[in-house]
Amino acid sequence: MCSGGAIPRCIVDLTAYYLGLALQEKCGECSGCREALPRIYELLRQISRGEGEISLLDELSSLAKQVLAGEACPASRIGARMVQEALANYDEEFAAHLTERYCPAGVCDIRYVVEV
Ligand SMILES: [Zn+2]
Repeated sequence: MCSGGAIPRCIVDLTAYYLGLALQEKCGECSGCREALPRIYELLRQISRGEGEISLLDELSSLAKQVLAGEACPASRIGARMVQEALANYDEEFAAHLTERYCPAGVCDIRYVVEV
C-alpha cells in the first residue's frame, strides 16, 4: 500500500544501494564484475561523501558504457544500465554533491569542505 508520503531518498545513495545488490549477484568472471562495477560502486560512495570533482560523473558514465559495450554478465549489465539511467535523469542531483557539496535529499553525510 502506498502511504503517499515517500521517504526522501537520494539518487546517489539509492543507486549505490542497488548497485551493491547487483554486485552480490555478479558472476565474478567478466571484466564488468572484476573491474568496472567495483570501481563504479567506489565512485558512487565517494560522490555520496561529496568528495572529488565533477569529472567523476564522466568517469562513471564511461565506465557504465564500457560494461555495456563489452562482454559482461547480466548482473553487471543491469548495474551499468541503472547507473546510466540515474545519471541521465538525475544529473543535477549527482552534480550537487560534487559542485555544491550538498545532498538535495539530505541523505548523504557530506563533510563540509571549506574552500580557502
Ligand atoms: Zn546524496
